[in-house]
Amino acid sequence: MTKYDYDLFVIGAGSGGVRAARLAAQLGLKVAVAEEDRPGGTCVLRGCVPKKFMVYASEFSEQVHYAKGFGWNDASIGAFDWQKFKDTNNAELTRLSQIYTANLVKAGVEVIAAHAAFRDEHHLILTTKQGGERVVSARNILIAVGGWPFLPQHCPGVAEHGLTSNDMFNLPELPKSLAIVGGGYIAVEFAGIMHGLGVDVTLLYRGQKILRGFDDDVRDHLASEMALRGIKIRTQLDPVALKKIDSGPKSQMEISLNDGTTMLADQVLYASGRKPKTEGLNLDAIGITPDVHGAVPVDKYSRTSHKHIYAIGDVTNRANLTPVAIREAIAFVETAFKDNPTAFDYENIPTAVFSQPQIGTVGLTEAEAIEQGLKYDVFQTRFRPMKTAFVQGESRVFMKLIVEQKSDIVLGVHIVGGEAGEIIQLAGIAVKARLTKAQWDATCAVHPTAAEELVTLK
Ligand code: NDP
Repeated sequence: MTKYDYDLFVIGAGSGGVRAARLAAQLGLKVAVAEEDRPGGTCVLRGCVPKKFMVYASEFSEQVHYAKGFGWNDASIGAFDWQKFKDTNNAELTRLSQIYTANLVKAGVEVIAAHAAFRDEHHLILTTKQGGERVVSARNILIAVGGWPFLPQHCPGVAEHGLTSNDMFNLPELPKSLAIVGGGYIAVEFAGIMHGLGVDVTLLYRGQKILRGFDDDVRDHLASEMALRGIKIRTQLDPVALKKIDSGPKSQMEISLNDGTTMLADQVLYASGRKPKTEGLNLDAIGITPDVHGAVPVDKYSRTSHKHIYAIGDVTNRANLTPVAIREAIAFVETAFKDNPTAFDYENIPTAVFSQPQIGTVGLTEAEAIEQGLKYDVFQTRFRPMKTAFVQGESRVFMKLIVEQKSDIVLGVHIVGGEAGEIIQLAGIAVKARLTKAQWDATCAVHPTAAEELVTLK
């Protein structure tokens, strides 16, 4: 049998790659992982984790408003120390990245700080930051390089002046005003974060309603809640040019829009989607052509057209979420090394958007139920969050269940409000288990909570 340097070589030490490498090494295989940045990937270094810390930081300003209603007359938020936040945040990310490395090493994985590119189907060229180059061979290869923010090419000035989510965690200073281009997960999350930190936020979305693909009622409800908080949402607008204008001591961005108008903002964040990061892998050398979205094509077992080369996570552009990449990693190890072909089930993945308020959603949207020709009932409610009772605001929690008439099975749950991200994890179990509305209703309510509404909807 041909001898290789490694039984498994993993390209990319993000959530998926790290899990796959550790599990394979625990089986006694000789495993290495190449990472050109620090281990951790998008989730730990420039995504979910630092984003959630920023969400926490930004939420305190709203708490002061509620606090006053409860008698904290002198409550005030004061100035936000962005530098202190950045330092603390970065220290935590360093700690987490070190834990990732330590866990890999403990499992017996060789961690290599280098960029990996294919030379052929069993050989990779490893290039270090210093330019050192060597070739390694592997019996199996896993591509887990993730994705990268995508900047539209049609708009002059974007490449030079547009920020991406990668830049948001280490801005030298917080802008006074921020325009956000896009209406997806990242756009609405950063709109809430930056608004909470005191930045004047305008969201520019090319379509009619933000959050395409989400339930229409959720899209409307979140948009109105964001507007209530003071975030300006301007739809059917697309920047056509960005120009830096130097006025006085600091510069601003002039954004020319497709309706012929212009607007000014200190900074412009492009949250216009992400693309699989296949550039630089030299996939040509192994005859793999990325699909129209730039993703590595794989079968349900995450296998490419080569039986020993697999790909998982955002580079395959299936469901671009950390927990999905981890499940794909587990399924990959079962399939490739345990003689147990395992395919991850993409049905009913619960997800949260950490907008303010949060969204939690699992299962079918109403539009999908219609598209599938289902006969269904909708149970929904809008109510004042108890915490805001003393400030008499307009804010409301929204909850919606979509229930198939024939079977009484709850096919979709959609929540906009306070702890929607926490609630949807548990609702996700019930939807995955295909429980009926009668079974939901037979569950005793927990009082007083927002979540209890889900078992009392009539
Ligand atoms: P999304 O695909 O969610 O949204 C991209 C947005 O940019 C859409 O509103 C899209 O509009 C718009 N857009 C696309 N191209 C252009 C263009 N050329 N000009 C102007 N606008 C454009 O991507 P995100 O970057 O927000 O997030 C990427 C992925 O990361 C998500 O899909 C999600 O899987 C994951 N993620 C998950 C999070 C979570 O779980 N909480 C948090 C953050 C990210 P249109 O709708 O018209 O196409």
